[in-house]
Formats: sequence, C-alpha cells, structure tokens
Amino acid sequence: MSQEHFAAIRAEIVSAGRAMVAKGLVAGTWGNVSVRIPGSEQVLVTPSGRDYDSLTSAEIVVVDSQGRVISGGVPSSETPLHLAIYRQRRDVQAIVHTHSVFASACAVARRGIPPVIEDLVQLVGGEVEVAAYALPGTVELALNAVQALGDKQAVLLANHGVIGCGTKLSEAMLACELVEKAAQIYLYANTLGGAKVLSDEDVAVMRRFYLEHYRVRQRGET
Ligand SMILES: [Zn+2]
Repeated sequence: MSQEHFAAIRAEIVSAGRAMVAKGLVAGTWGNVSVRIPGSEQVLVTPSGRDYDSLTSAEIVVVDSQGRVISGGVPSSETPLHLAIYRQRRDVQAIVHTHSVFASACAVARRGIPPVIEDLVQLVGGEVEVAAYALPGTVELALNAVQALGDKQAVLLANHGVIGCGTKLSEAMLACELVEKAAQIYLYANTLGGAKVLSDEDVAVMRRFYLEHYRVRQRGET
C-alpha cells in the first residue's frame, strides 16, 4: 500500500472519531474506530483515551493480528474486540464502536432491535442481537460479540453500546447510525401500541438487494 493511501486511511479514522462525537454517538473519549490495512493482517486503530478534537493522524496506532503494537502509543482498550471480528469476518474492513443513547437503552434492557425498518435491515442484515455481558476490554467480550454478530454488520454489547462493521469505514459508521435510529424508532413504536416486525422473507429480499445492487453501485461511484 502506498504511503498516500496509508495517510488517507489515518486521516479518515480521525475524521470518523470526530464525526462520532459530532453525531452524538459517543461522549468524551469513549468509542473507537479501526480499519484493516488492505492486504495485510495489520489494523489501524484509535489510541486509548484520546480526545477526538485534538487527535492527529500520526497518533493512530498500528497493531498486528495479535494486538502487538507495530507503531504508535497505547491502542484502544477494545482492540481485542476489533481483532476478534477481523479474524472471524474476512469481509469486514472497518469497525466503529459507539455508545449511542437509544441503542444503549436496548443494550441495557438486553433486548435486541428487531428488523422493523428497511434501511437497518438492508445494511445490518436483520435483528441486531445483544452479545452476552462481559466487562469492557476483555477477551470474553470479544468472543461474545463475535458470536452474536454472526454474519451481520452490527451487534449490541450488553450494558455497553454498539459495534458496526463494514467493507469500508463509511459503511461501519452508517451501521452505527442506523442501529441508533432503529432503536429510537423501535422504542417510539412501542409507545404507540407496539412495533410490527418485518417477515424473514422480506428481510432476506432487502438484504440481498443491498449486497447485490446497492453496495455494488456505491462501490462503482467511489
Ligand atoms: Zn465502549
């Protein structure tokens, strides 16, 4: 990979960190962002406990598949979680982890977000399930998250927050935003007499459309 491409990914990670705060998906220094370096087992990840406003591209940490630091300072404490997903899912190239309010309400109640709205269903691939509880930063949390994620693009972490995955960083960020939006819609719908869940057949049709047409079209445009 060229130095220009490497620098562009680092800059994109910094922008994503700032966007998480601007969009209200995290507060303070919480949340984290990573991108798999194309064609390698190495991952670029946000550093631990750094304020996103003053974060620079040079501070983005490079780790290998075992979490050993190749360059930079201390990586995000959730790096084991990111690495576990990259190991299991070869299609995933970017991961965003947020603590957004409505999705976290579902995570605290340990209730998944059912497939209730089409944008969520297309991008995430169905119900957003809740991973079994484990302490933040632990290998146990990483294993639980991978299991609950399955072949979808988002998962809730019990009493914690959201993980969104994508074939590129913008898609992982969008997954987190759509999970938050769907959680809000789901909770409001329940105050209006109850959310009606889409059928498995329709979920499958919409997901297939996203994978076979929409995502391909987006790739052609960029
Ligand atoms: Zn977190």
